[in-house]
Amino acid sequence: MEFSWSVEQRQGHEQARQFAERDLGAPPAASAAGAAWRERWQKCAAFGVQGLNIPEAYGGLGLSTRAAVHVLEGLGRGTSDNGLLMALGAQAWSVVAPLVHFGTEAQKQLWLPPLAAGAAVGAFALSETESGSDAFRLHTRAQADRGGYRLQGTKAFVTNAPVADLFLVFAVTNPQAGYFGVSAFLVRREIEGLSVGPPLAKMGLESSPMAEVHLDGAWVPREAVLGAEGGGGAILQHTLEWERGCLLAPALGTMARLLEQTTAHCRARKQFGRPIVEFEAVAMLLAEMRLRLEIARLLIYEFAWLKDEDRPAAVEASMTKLYLSESLCRSCELAVHLHGASGYTRDHEYERDWRDAMASSIYSGTTEMQHNLIAESLLRAPHSEPPPPPARPVEAAWKRHEQSGRPLPPIEARPQATSGSDPAKSGEPPLFGGALEAQASQASQASKEGR
Ligand SMILES: Cc1cc2nc3c(=O)[nH]c(=O)nc-3n(C[C@H](O)[C@H](O)[C@H](O)COP(=O)(O)OP(=O)(O)OC[C@H]3O[C@@H](n4cnc5c(N)ncnc54)[C@H](O)[C@@H]3O)c2cc1C
Repeated sequence: MEFSWSVEQRQGHEQARQFAERDLGAPPAASAAGAAWRERWQKCAAFGVQGLNIPEAYGGLGLSTRAAVHVLEGLGRGTSDNGLLMALGAQAWSVVAPLVHFGTEAQKQLWLPPLAAGAAVGAFALSETESGSDAFRLHTRAQADRGGYRLQGTKAFVTNAPVADLFLVFAVTNPQAGYFGVSAFLVRREIEGLSVGPPLAKMGLESSPMAEVHLDGAWVPREAVLGAEGGGGAILQHTLEWERGCLLAPALGTMARLLEQTTAHCRARKQFGRPIVEFEAVAMLLAEMRLRLEIARLLIYEFAWLKDEDRPAAVEASMTKLYLSESLCRSCELAVHLHGASGYTRDHEYERDWRDAMASSIYSGTTEMQHNLIAESLLRAPHSEPPPPPARPVEAAWKRHEQSGRPLPPIEARPQATSGSDPAKSGEPPLFGGALEAQASQASQASKEGR
């Protein structure tokens, strides 16, 4: 695994932090879905946030997952508008990611440029009042009709619904087919039969507007199906993997901010004639915040690395989501706690950060569901080894050799490529299909060229 930051990634992180500090700051007091919200959404689009994971051909930046995570971490460090970050993440990982992967060229041309430019807002409409953790027990139906589908049902707790132009709606097309009976639809807001309920008042994440979406015989053409009819289950799995892996990337920045501010407070605040940081019990809590941040970073960087290597990472996504949400909540709790009574007041942002954070144990699959998924993965493949890295030539050669069942020749009988002997001439087959020799010769060539 390779977690070191490139110069560009560090620049992206730093620029995002500066942009968020300067242009976003704290969330405005105004209503969640008003003009101020639009203005801030547009500012983010102008910076490139909505285009992070949209290919350049469709108006985005087309960043690698690692680079996108570093930018999001910078945003979380620079702004405490956790609701806006949630709204941005809901679009990026729950609408854009499946659209980029499963969309037809026409669907991508239609939706990705306006989503990247901030001209359109996307929302993910899966949950229903009766179908939460049990996500496949959907009541929303899509009935074939006049060369398209008629949608009937109500979606609950849809982030961005009050402001969305595009809804990714999951509905049952074949009630007998279970997993293969669910389909995904790209639904425009303005179609007849679609209405959005009033914004829901929530405990936190004020600037992440949320509402119900009612589909009352809303008709969509066949071209609105994302992927194939019956392919909604696979799309959902793909989407949840991205969502669980990346949605909490800004939380790394939030946790870093909380740690920095809380440490500064504990150094400055004196009790019993000493800075409270000198009390071991206090220092231990700061150490816990630091440790949680670092472990959270490693988990999310690993997820991002796996995706950049084009590998499945469903379990890693669950572990990332679970650990980040728990650590975010705990860091907020400790920030309040270590600031004492002043941390509990609304003079500081810590109580709001905590209320915002609490939602992370619920959305994108609750904490218990992540535990279930991680445990189930152990039952399927009972090992706890990290996924193998891509086979490098030598390792691939080892594997081939192991599989061949041939015993290893004694060391002295092995071809010595570095000493100039030519295995082809020695009559011995090259031990690792020539990979070792090829590497040695590349290395010696590189050293001759001064690389
Ligand atoms: C801020 C926020 C934003 C959201 N945004 C969206 C969105 O954009 N689109 C969308 O479709 N949905 C969204 N949701 C909904 C979210 O996905 C669901 O709330 C979540 O899946 C849980 O479903 P539920 O609320 O019905 O809880 P339930 O499924 O009823 O769960 C209630 C409790 O029972 C536990 N439980 C349930 N089943 C099990 C089990 N098998 N084993 C152990 N424990 C179990 C849960 O862990 C939980 O503690 C959002 C939710 C929140 C809070």
